[in-house]
Formats: sequence, structure tokens, C-alpha cells
Amino acid sequence: MSKKFQNFINGKWVDAKSGQTFENRNPANWDEVVGVFPKSGKEDVNEAVRAARVAFEKWRLVPAPKRGDILRKVGDLMVARKEDLSKQMTREMGKVMAETRGDVQEGIDTAYYAGTEGRRLFGHTVPSELPNKFNMAIRVPIGVAGIVTPWNFPMAIPTWKIFPALLSGNTVVFKPATDTPATATSLVEILMEAGIPEGVVNIIHGGGGDVGMAIVSHPDVDLVSFTGSTVVGKKISEVASATLKRVSLELGGKNAQLVMDDGDLDLALDGVLWGAFGTTGQRCTATSRLILHEKIYDKFLGMLVNKVASLKVGDGLIEGVQVGPCVNEGQQKTVQSYVDIGLKEGAKIAVGGAIPKGGGLEKGWFYSPTIFTDVQPSHRIAKEEIFGPVLSVIRTSSLEEGIRILNDTIYGLSSAVYTRNVNNAFQAIRDIKAGITYINAPTIGAEAHLPFGGVKQTGNGHREGGWTVYDFFTEWKTVYIDYSGGLQRAQIDNY
Ligand code: NAD
Repeated sequence: MSKKFQNFINGKWVDAKSGQTFENRNPANWDEVVGVFPKSGKEDVNEAVRAARVAFEKWRLVPAPKRGDILRKVGDLMVARKEDLSKQMTREMGKVMAETRGDVQEGIDTAYYAGTEGRRLFGHTVPSELPNKFNMAIRVPIGVAGIVTPWNFPMAIPTWKIFPALLSGNTVVFKPATDTPATATSLVEILMEAGIPEGVVNIIHGGGGDVGMAIVSHPDVDLVSFTGSTVVGKKISEVASATLKRVSLELGGKNAQLVMDDGDLDLALDGVLWGAFGTTGQRCTATSRLILHEKIYDKFLGMLVNKVASLKVGDGLIEGVQVGPCVNEGQQKTVQSYVDIGLKEGAKIAVGGAIPKGGGLEKGWFYSPTIFTDVQPSHRIAKEEIFGPVLSVIRTSSLEEGIRILNDTIYGLSSAVYTRNVNNAFQAIRDIKAGITYINAPTIGAEAHLPFGGVKQTGNGHREGGWTVYDFFTEWKTVYIDYSGGLQRAQIDNY
């Protein structure tokens, strides 16, 4: 019997009102059902929003350091359960255990950061232009936060959103991806165990078009924090604008690693292997393009192809496996379709380019790590997000041209440059159009206490992570206190 999961509304575990369910299966072995989850709809969302709205009136009055204490406890519980959470995550979305442990650790880091932020949440005091008057600007909670998340970081991304939302005094209605509902449920269980009051966090499982849209369009949801594809992000932006709610969008990427002729090639090799094939290439920050200086092109490619051919593909729960499956059949088909497009466009496959056969991989959504050479910057495989283990290699003759190629995309999330020349490094930092630039490190590896997000169609200007996420989850209130005992008119009585 598969484990049956429920929604969590106003402190109670409940089925979807429709009574319908959906299954979640292990992408490394589709015979294995991870769980059965409620297929919810608008009515379930309405109930969760009502509960969150009522709970907000009490939660906003809990002192921020106390809210932080609960989140610290959340971090402690996550530390204690790190291994179990990691295993559950690998079973439901496939990435290897080292990476799911990292995913949980990011949540732990975010919990402890939020815990301390409860004693900061700094405002400003500002001198008044009038005598006997005191001015300040303070941060206040906003209300009900709708949280909609993808499957590729099933723990880290929800924690990036939910912990700062709660620390700031907001309440939450959370819809996780249908590929990772079990990890999301574990997170909610931990929040409750740590002492989050009833109604403050609610989780509703189900599809994006039903549950996601119902949250985004709900007039009583004050803000929406979304991570996912750019296509869906645009829809959300349109729908949310009807009620002028605040929306944070963290969307797709087409990240590149540029290797200069003066770069450390062994280091760059480790970087691109990790950046392109970690999480089976299913990261918003994945290295999807490799731009090589012509002087090291042949040598570096030779080194890379050998290594990629020997990457071990398999079930992420097995020790020694380096590349897990695609998350589901649809994602595997997308990868295959881009490989076909690349070949039609005239690019050449140096390694991979197929669904692996045999070796115990028959019942999973695997795809062999793939490298395309002879890629032109105008090719679709050089421009569109593939979200799989496919790397497009492009040649450049200079730093300036390399940066132009790197910037030639609608996205702008992460970027990496390998060079030993400090002038090249600073020129790249200045000229690359991306939210994140790594020097001598791969495009993946964000740390929880720094701003995270992208430019162009990767987002709408907000940042998650660190101190910056608190700008999204709080509203500024400006306060003037006049203790002069008389009417003082700003801009008039003092000039
Ligand atoms: P997705 O856009 O298909 O889904 C994301 C979430 O939105 C899911 O919970 C889904 O159910 C929901 N959703 C789908 N349609 C919806 C709708 N019409 N209204 C409301 N909600 C809807 O993305 P995905 O396949 O889960 O994740 C992969 C994408 O996420 C990639 O494009 C990747 O780059 C992006 N991503 C971005 C970041 C970042 O921080 N920039 C991080 C991770 C993933």
C-alpha cells in the first residue's frame, strides 16, 4: 500500500474536497510509488487562505525574535532528520544523495539565518527637518503569502521563501510541485513540530493550473513568491496584476561558463562537470553553455569528453552514482527533443545524445550526459533552457567576444569565468549581464546568506536569500512623531 498524504489547513490534515488524488513515482524506478496525494482545487485554496488570513492577525503580533526562535528550532529538527529527508528527496526527484543532502543543508542554513534576522529586521531612524519631531521607517508584515515552488530544489527553495515570510510576520499558503510533494509535506510537519501556530502555514497539493492559479488570483493573497519556468512566471505576473499584489519571480536560465586561454584548465574541467551535469543539468543555474577560447578549445574539449563519457548514471540512492534520472517522462522527452533540434541545426554530438540502455536503468527516466560541439550562438540549443544533461560548446577568439556570446540570451541568472588574469576577471564582472558571476568556480553553488536572483527574463528584479529577501516579505511603514505640541508644516514652516 502506498502512503497516503493530505493537505494541511488550519492545523488539520485533510483530503482534497474533490476526493481525487494523484500519485508520485520514483523517477529512477517508475514501479515504485512514493505516495498518493490530494488533487486539490479552488475550494481547498479558499479554505487555506481563510485560515491564513485569520491566523495573520495573531502571528503578526508575535515578536520577531520569538518567531526567530521557532525557526531556529526548525533548523535543529532538520539537522536531526537530514539523512531521512535527503533519502526521501532522492526517491521522489532523483538527484544523487550528496546533492539532496546539500539541498537540505541549504534549508538548515536558511532557518538559522532567519532565526538571527528576528533580532535584526532593521529599520531606519532619520532626522526630521522640523524641531521636536522624530522620524523613522519600520518594517511591517504584509499578510498572506502564496508560495509556489518547482521540483528541482524541493527543500531549499520552499525554505528560501517560507522562512523569511514567517520571520517577517506573514502567514503562508504553500503549493509545492506535484513531483516533490512528499519533501514539502515533511517540511510542513517540521514547522508544526517546532511550534508554528495553527493556520500560519497551510499546504495544498495539486496542479499548477488549478491550485497554483487559485492562489495567485485570490484577492485575499497579498503577495506571491514563485520559482519556476519563465513561461509560467509571465502568466502569474499577468494574473496577479489584476489585484496589484506583490510578486517575486525567480525563473529560467541559460548559464554559461567561459574558459580563457589563461585559465586553470583542470579547475575549469571540475567546474563544468559539476555545473553542467550536477542535478542532471536540472538547475536554474546549470551550466548549459561552455564558451572556450580558441587557443585551448581542442585540448579542453578532449579532456572534457573523456570525463563525461565516464560519468556514472543511475539511481541516486546508490553510492558512487554521479548523475541521476530526469525528473519525469516529460522532462526526458524535452531533452531528447532538444538533442534532435541540435542535430538538425548542424551541431555535432561529441558524447551522449541518447537514452542509456541496460545496466539496471530500464525503469527510470535517464538520459546520457551529452556534449554538443560546433554550436553557433544563434542555435536554439545555445539560446533556450533545456533543463537536462546537455552542454553546448561554443568557440570564442577573445574575452570581449566571449562575454558578448555569454550575454546573448533572454536570461541572466548565473555565469562563470575561468581566468588567472585579474584584469580579465574584473572586466567580466563589469560586463556580464547576470545576477550572479563566479570567478574560477562553476555556475552553481549559491550560499543562503547572499542575494540570489537574475536579470532580464530570469525574474522581475527581486532577490531571494540573505538580507535582501526581507525587502520582499516586509512593507515599509514611515512614522512621524511630533512632540512639539503645535502644528508644524513640513516644507512651509521651516523655510
Ligand atoms: P514550472 O514553471 O512548470 O512549475 C513551477 C511551479 O508552478 C509548480 O509548482 C507548478 O505546479 C506551478 N505552476 C505551473 N503552472 C502554473 C500556473 N499556470 N499558475 C500557477 N502555478 C503554476 O517549473 P518546473 O518545471 O517545476 O521547474 C523548472 C523551472 O524552474 C526551470 O525553468 C528553472 O530554471 C526554474 N527554476 C528557477 C529558479 C530560480 O531561482 N531562478 C530555481 C529553480 C528552478
